[in-house]
Amino acid sequence: MSAHPGPRAEADDVRHFWEGLGLPGLVDVHTHFMPERVLRKVWAYFDALGPLTGGVEWPITYRAEEDERAALLRRFGVRAFTAMLYPHKPGMARWLNGWAAGFAARTPDCLHTSTLFPEPGVAEYVREAVDAGARVFKAHVQVGGYDPADASLDAAWGLLAEAGVPVVIHCGSGPAPGKHTGPEPIARVLARHPRLRLIVAHLGMPEYEDFLDLAERYAEVRLDTTMAFTDFSERLAPFPGRALPRLADLGDRVLLGTDFPNIPYPYLHQLRALERLDLGDAWLRAVCHDNAARLFGLAG
Ligand SMILES: [Zn+2]
Repeated sequence: MSAHPGPRAEADDVRHFWEGLGLPGLVDVHTHFMPERVLRKVWAYFDALGPLTGGVEWPITYRAEEDERAALLRRFGVRAFTAMLYPHKPGMARWLNGWAAGFAARTPDCLHTSTLFPEPGVAEYVREAVDAGARVFKAHVQVGGYDPADASLDAAWGLLAEAGVPVVIHCGSGPAPGKHTGPEPIARVLARHPRLRLIVAHLGMPEYEDFLDLAERYAEVRLDTTMAFTDFSERLAPFPGRALPRLADLGDRVLLGTDFPNIPYPYLHQLRALERLDLGDAWLRAVCHDNAARLFGLAG
């Protein structure tokens, strides 16, 4: 892992990366923007090496004000990004969705993001969010501590499947397992909602191969690259080399995600980590831009 080269030099390097591939920029489906006091709590959590980080040292590289963080993504040439936010308890999702709608309204390059939780009224506020223009949802099984196949979410999943709105879902057991993480609960959700557009965050780390199974079985399941293949993750949960051909074959359903700003290394490192897989420029173009551009109907 390289030391942080400074934002200006890094932005130049990130631009060279996608310009070299002949892309108009990057699309990053997994970036975190959330109400300031929630984000501060998340950062404090990483600083304290809480149990959800697996006790691993996790220095946040891009600890800056919200407008600076968005501006940095633009300097990197990220054409579209998301505002991944998620509740850890009932009664919070609706409020988060209100904030996210405002954020999307003042941040045109952010794909309007919403979230959900198994609770009374969830189908209603998911419907409201979709009607208000939400383009992507985030679900966090580990932090939320819920079973994604819980009956109270059934109508919400059905609604999202029908609307074709993708859901980035943190459902793998990394960096630390939760009561309902892993492929099994997700398999139950997909058995009921086979057309649900789940984007499995972190490539399902560390249960990579189980989630590849699900992606091979369900044509609308996608995977995001968030933190996968970086030096940091390869130390903790290495991607099995034997599964690389499967990842190559799923090249039209793998999407760039990074976890910006909450990453313990420079943004460029995620891109280099994908490049060094050696799956070819066509694969990189699809993953870093084209797949998400198609999914979200971005022009050009
Ligand atoms: Zn994340």
